[in-house]
Amino acid sequence: MKSALKITLIYFLISFFWILFSDQFIRSVTDQAEIITQLQTYKGWFFVISTSLFLYFLVRNEIKKKLQLLNELKKAKEKAEESDRFKSTFLSNMSHEIRTPLNGIVGFSQMLFEGDDDEANRQMYIEQVNKNSDILLKIIDNVLELSRIQENMILPDFNQLNIADLLIEIERNFLSKKALLEEKGLEFFVAHNPEFEGLFIRTDHLRLNQILYNLLDNAVKYTTAGQITLGIELEPQHLRIFVADTGIGIPEDQLPLIFERFKRAHENDAGISGFGLGLSISKGLAQALNATIEVDSQPGKGSKFSVRLPLEA
Ligand code: ADP
Repeated sequence: MKSALKITLIYFLISFFWILFSDQFIRSVTDQAEIITQLQTYKGWFFVISTSLFLYFLVRNEIKKKLQLLNELKKAKEKAEESDRFKSTFLSNMSHEIRTPLNGIVGFSQMLFEGDDDEANRQMYIEQVNKNSDILLKIIDNVLELSRIQENMILPDFNQLNIADLLIEIERNFLSKKALLEEKGLEFFVAHNPEFEGLFIRTDHLRLNQILYNLLDNAVKYTTAGQITLGIELEPQHLRIFVADTGIGIPEDQLPLIFERFKRAHENDAGISGFGLGLSISKGLAQALNATIEVDSQPGKGSKFSVRLPLEA
């Protein structure tokens, strides 16, 4: 309203001074009535054309601003709707995911409490309580991490990191999975490459470790035979750290979806524990490190996930 009044006032003043001074000017140039009439016609046309152009640009600008505002409103509405949808899916998924281990903990603790003379049974109940507590802890950790990512609260601590040392460290940490690897008959290789001995990269050591651990964890989960390889490849501007497995692979149409929250790629995923948050967390963490995660996979043959980090000049 205020700007409409301002524009009208400006328009009025311009027109007022134009009429006042242009007539005076014409009269000062000539006093022949015929020429004055002709000049006044030109003056009128000049005024009409210039005010039309002025109005055209003004209205166009206003429409542009309104459309932009409308677009922003539409985007905000879509975002709010998406977040609403996410909240309900999240709650229904979470209540299911949390209930399963919680029921295990409550049920087996109850059985322990009721007492069982068989020592083997008691041992099994304790193991189940431990296993379900670990699952519950992992779910809660993942949910907290996901919410930190969504709120942009991941503040990476960038430092120089020696890549060869990182591989050694991951290899050492992964020893905790040794029993599981042996149980599944899987081999784990780290493709050390002397060429990269002195290679340093600027990144957040802990976050990168977390991403690679997630990828390795998945590789073990989704591989029943063969091997898992952790290695690096150098590109002109990037460093690629990859985790390759000889597991069940991922159908092509599922590849773009697996990085979304709660998305699982296989019909029979139900047989393998997981709730579809690992890759979306890894993707969010990679973004915070200015890195990307790429995947190459063939069903029945295996998958190769790589973290692509920018190299500094
Ligand atoms: P989940 O907890 O289900 O493992 P993720 O977010 O880590 O969740 O992975 C999403 C889905 O991507 C998995 O459910 C699985 O279908 C697929 N996936 C991830 N890693 C692999 C892999 N190495 N091999 C085959 N499928 C995989």
